[in-house]
Amino acid sequence: MKFENSNCAEDSIFFQAMEEVIYSISPLLESDPKYKRYAILERLVVPDRVIKFQVTWLDDNNKIQVNTGYRVQFNNALGPYKGGLRFHPTVNEGVLKFLGFEQILKNSLTGLPIGGAKGGSDFNPKGKSDFEIMKFCSAFMTELHKYIGPRIDVPAGDIGVGSREIGYLFGEYKKITSSYDGVLTGKPYMFGGSLMRPEATGYGLVYFTQAMLEHEKKDPLTGKVCTVSGAGNVAIHTIEKLQEIGAIVVTCSDSEGMLYDSRGVDLKLIKEIKLERRGTLKEYLEVYKDVNYIPVADYPDGGHSVWTIPCYAAFPCATQNELTEVDAKNLIANGCVSVSEGANMPSTPKATELFLTNKICFAPAKAANAGGVAVSEFEMSQNASMQKWSFDMVDERLKETMTQICKRVALTAKDYGVEGNYVDGANIAGFKRVADAMITEGI
Ligand code: GLU
Repeated sequence: MKFENSNCAEDSIFFQAMEEVIYSISPLLESDPKYKRYAILERLVVPDRVIKFQVTWLDDNNKIQVNTGYRVQFNNALGPYKGGLRFHPTVNEGVLKFLGFEQILKNSLTGLPIGGAKGGSDFNPKGKSDFEIMKFCSAFMTELHKYIGPRIDVPAGDIGVGSREIGYLFGEYKKITSSYDGVLTGKPYMFGGSLMRPEATGYGLVYFTQAMLEHEKKDPLTGKVCTVSGAGNVAIHTIEKLQEIGAIVVTCSDSEGMLYDSRGVDLKLIKEIKLERRGTLKEYLEVYKDVNYIPVADYPDGGHSVWTIPCYAAFPCATQNELTEVDAKNLIANGCVSVSEGANMPSTPKATELFLTNKICFAPAKAANAGGVAVSEFEMSQNASMQKWSFDMVDERLKETMTQICKRVALTAKDYGVEGNYVDGANIAGFKRVADAMITEGI
C-alpha cells in the first residue's frame, strides 16, 4: 500500500497501529478473497474525513491564544462516528489517526452500533484556570458543532477531557443549536450522563482481565500484587475495582514520577490529589513520608520505574508507547503473569512481541479498554429513550460486554490457529465485523 499524502514523522504512530492490524489479519485476507475484492483494507486505513480548524480564545490576561482543533471521522459502517476528544500538547493529525483507527476496531469488538472517530486539540489544559478551560471549550465547539450530531458523530472524553470539559462543550453546543441532544457522552449525570461512565474504562479493564485469567486457567486477581501506571481517570478506576476485589495495588504514576507503596496505595488520597486538587503525586509524601517516590529523571534507561516492581498483573493506564522492551523484560523476569492495557496502545511493538512469545496473558487495549466506549453507547441509548439506567444495570451490562469481548477474541484466536494470542484475536474479530458491514453497504 502507498501513502502519498502522509506526513511521515507525525504518522509513525498511526503506521505502528496499522502495521500490527495488517499483520494480524493476513490469514483472514488470505482465506477469504472477498476482503481483497472489495479493497476493504485500502478503504479502512484512510479516514472518511479529517476536519482541522483554528481555535482562538482569550486567556485570563486578555491575550489571544491560538490552537489547532481536529476531528478525524474514520469509519461509520457500524454506526455514528464515535470516539473521544484529547486535549494535550502532543496531539496532531497522526496521533488522532492512530487513535481513530484503533477506535474503529475497538467499537466493533463491543458488538454495539458505533463507528470510529477521534478528535482533540494541541491545547494544554495544565495550569489553565477554570475560566480558561471554559473559554477554550466554547471556542472549540463553535467550530466542531457543524460536524457532529447524535446520529452523525458523538464525541466523548479522553486525556485532558473529563466531565468538566464535556459539560462546557455540551453547554456551548446547546447554545448554538438550541437542541438538547445526546451529542456528547461522558456528560455529568445531572444533564444526561450515564451512571458509571467515569468508572467504566477502569472497571471494564478489570472485568476483561478476570475473564481472560479464568479462560487461561490462571489464578484470579484476589490477594495478588498489581502494578498500575498513570493516575488519570482510567488508572484511578482500575485501582478502585482492583482494590474492591481484594487485589493489592502498589503503584501509580504521573508525568513527574511514580509512587510505590508496598502496603497498597491510598486511593482516597490519590483521588483527592489528582481529581480534586489537580496536583502531582509527589504530594502523597506529605501524608506518607516513608513511601517510595521516584522522579522521572531517575527512571531506568529507556524504561519506566513502575515496571521494575514485581507483580502478578500489570495495568499500563498512562499513554501510548509507555511500556518499552526494557519494561517488558523487567516484568517477565519478575514473574508477571498478565498485562492488560488500559491506555490506548501503551506497549511498544517490541514489548508486545516479548509478552506474546513468553506466553504472558496479554490483553490489548482495543479489547481490554473498550468498557469506556461501551458505556458511552449505553449513555446514547439512555438519551435517545429519555431514560436513566441504575448503577447496577449499567454495571451488569458492562460486565457482560467485557466478558463477551473476551470470549469473542479468545475464540477467534483459536479459530485462526493462534490460540492465546489476544492481539490477533482482537484484530481479526474487530476487522471482520466492520469489513462485513462495509461489503454489505456497497461502495
Ligand atoms: N476515549 C475513550 C476511548 O479511548 C472513550 C471514547 C468514547 O467514549 O467515545 O475509548
